[in-house]
Amino acid sequence: MADVEVAENDGAGSYSLVREQVNRDVVWLVSKLEETGHEAYVVGGAVRDLVLGLTPKDYDVATSASPEEVCQAFGRRRARIIGRRFRIVHVRVRSRVYEVSTFRREPTAEERRGREDDDGVMLWRDNVFGTLEEDAFRRDFTINALYLDVTGDQGVIDYVGGLEDIRSGWVRMIGDENVRIPEDPVRNLRALKLAGTYGFEVDSALKAAIPKYSELIQASSRYRLFEELLKILMIPHSYAIFQLFSDYGFLDHFLPKVSALWSSQTGQILQKLLRGRDRRLANGGYTEAKTLALATLCFPYVASLLQEYEDLEDLWSLHDGLERTCREAVVEVLYPLTVPRFLSARVRDVILLMPRFKIGRQPRRLQRHPEYKYARELFLLLVEVFGWDKELADRWPSPPKSNSKRKRGRR
Ligand code: ATP
Ligand code: MG
Repeated sequence: MADVEVAENDGAGSYSLVREQVNRDVVWLVSKLEETGHEAYVVGGAVRDLVLGLTPKDYDVATSASPEEVCQAFGRRRARIIGRRFRIVHVRVRSRVYEVSTFRREPTAEERRGREDDDGVMLWRDNVFGTLEEDAFRRDFTINALYLDVTGDQGVIDYVGGLEDIRSGWVRMIGDENVRIPEDPVRNLRALKLAGTYGFEVDSALKAAIPKYSELIQASSRYRLFEELLKILMIPHSYAIFQLFSDYGFLDHFLPKVSALWSSQTGQILQKLLRGRDRRLANGGYTEAKTLALATLCFPYVASLLQEYEDLEDLWSLHDGLERTCREAVVEVLYPLTVPRFLSARVRDVILLMPRFKIGRQPRRLQRHPEYKYARELFLLLVEVFGWDKELADRWPSPPKSNSKRKRGRR
């Protein structure tokens, strides 16, 4: 084991401080696994954030217990095995769900050959269990392979130089990029997401490999990519991440329509909206709803098709075929990702409400619209970004609490 302490780190202070900041439910979860005779650590993004002095948004746990043993420790009501390609356990503590994964190791060539769905390059399943140290080397980047011992005195366990890379701001892949990216091309996306989120530099070997393998992203699960897109849109650095995607030629393969637009006038509007959204998310209080996030991403292209005036000053007026154009445009922007139909329908509704906010006729009726809440937030963003009269925004009150806590959840 290398570094044990997160010492003299600028933001985080001493290791004990780091440990104190770990959510109590997570400490309980880890202790419970240890009581059954297993090792368990907090791993991944939470350790990264704690070391940087940031508050983690979620916690992942790595353990020597197999998925079945984790389920046994927490019972069927709390724990559920999910995934096929990568089996993990979702453990619910109070209202939150934590991902618990069993230590993995590199499968041998022999083990890979034995699997029907493995072509020897792309790794379709990664369920060979191993030790803590082996697990560290199966992770993607050094800064993601840190383990925090939250109950004992081992501090942060670092086999791969991740602490040093966090301190000096590098995204560095563990192992050979020419193997590890083709094995799972989503790692390209994850590398740029880290660089954009923290403003870290991409290590030179990784820098060269990303464009080389960008095309492979098309073979990854569209569902998984859609989930990744949603996660990116919730980070208050989405603009920086998209800019990196574009710089590296990755956007071309991930979201071809967005890539084609990125440098156009419509793309400039999208860039402004993403920056505005990032600011709002960073200041807290902005809704992390999928509908709102996707409506923001799709709005500029839809507007470019529907608007009747160059400067967006008057948005568009209602006419036949509007809904269809909007629906098709939303699908086009998000192609080739698989978007659930109910979600794309809601995105379309939010976008189509924009002129009604601008014109301001029949305000009460609009306020009763089921999409009022998210449409209002998008409209406030437009007012800010286009420098429209602030009075336009003041007209629209926040929805009453009962309306904002609709049972539909954060969709
Ligand atoms: P976030 O803040 O977005 O949750 P994260 O690093 O925790 O960031 P997760 O997707 O939650 O990301 O994954 C948890 C950990 O699992 C990662 O930190 C990394 O160690 C490992 N991991 C995730 N995806 C991969 C992958 N494709 N290849 C190797 N390791 C991975
Ligand atoms: Mg995580």
